[in-house]
Amino acid sequence: MKYVLVSGGVISGIGKGLTASSLGVLLKACGWRVTSIKIDPYINIDAGTMSPLEHGEVFVLDDGGEVDLDLGNYERFLGIHLTRQNNITTGKIYQQVIERERRGDYLGKTVQVVPHVTDAIQEWIRDVSQTPVDSSGLPPQICVIELGGTVGDIESMPFIEALRQLQYNVGTENFMSVFVSLVPELGVVGEQKTKPTQHGVKNLTSMGLSPSMIVCRSERPLLPETKKKLGLFCQVPPEAVVSVHDVRNTYRIAMMLQEQGACNLLIKCLRLVWRLPTLLSR
Ligand code: ADP
Repeated sequence: MKYVLVSGGVISGIGKGLTASSLGVLLKACGWRVTSIKIDPYINIDAGTMSPLEHGEVFVLDDGGEVDLDLGNYERFLGIHLTRQNNITTGKIYQQVIERERRGDYLGKTVQVVPHVTDAIQEWIRDVSQTPVDSSGLPPQICVIELGGTVGDIESMPFIEALRQLQYNVGTENFMSVFVSLVPELGVVGEQKTKPTQHGVKNLTSMGLSPSMIVCRSERPLLPETKKKLGLFCQVPPEAVVSVHDVRNTYRIAMMLQEQGACNLLIKCLRLVWRLPTLLSR
């Protein structure tokens, strides 16, 4: 199993969900069976009890699970059917850990965030990523994990630590970290500002998840010099800095990523063996 983690910085609502879905589309087009997991670090068990005015409409899955709208994107983009298990929240993890503690499963140990909560998160991710989600009935080969919120939030810390440990346990050739950030344009000349992204990457790197690809949401396409600068200060080659500028039709994002070589980067980072695109082999 290979894992692609998509996290984001600077502000929320930046396009992590669409980036994660679009990367999944590229991997699927290369012939891989792809599944996805959305992590929402809030304490609610699911989005069902949250006001639609605050959170947007919930998406209802086949098993009745009421989840974040992003899971709807995954189902539509990837042609898969997910279950409520594909949406992990702090509430679900703590509920499971507390139930285990009441049953005495921890054999008198002091139950702590590390290792008990972080182990529960890893176990959940490993289990769910194996569940077949398409008509083939076969277990997926790649799991795209979207970490909701922004890196540095207090509530996402146990998830970041669990994902760092997951990366360590599965090996760096089976785990790729993608960081989605904002590149604002300021002033009359519209200079593309890289500092917020530099700080975001620094933060993520300090937690052991240095990104291999940086996806930048911007108003206009990223200039070559902006990519070069970001590459230099974020320790990635300029080709690994990808621009996802504003588009009218969000289904275009996958093509935009493909045109900038995202597919090759995924294949290289995850040591995937190239397969004939499914669309061509039909
Ligand atoms: P996040 O997962 O970071 O909260 P989403 O992927 O849910 O963000 O996107 C938030 C909003 O931004 C959505 O309404 C989406 O349509 C819009 N959006 C994301 N990327 C783009 C883009 N490149 N161009 C235009 N709109 C976008």
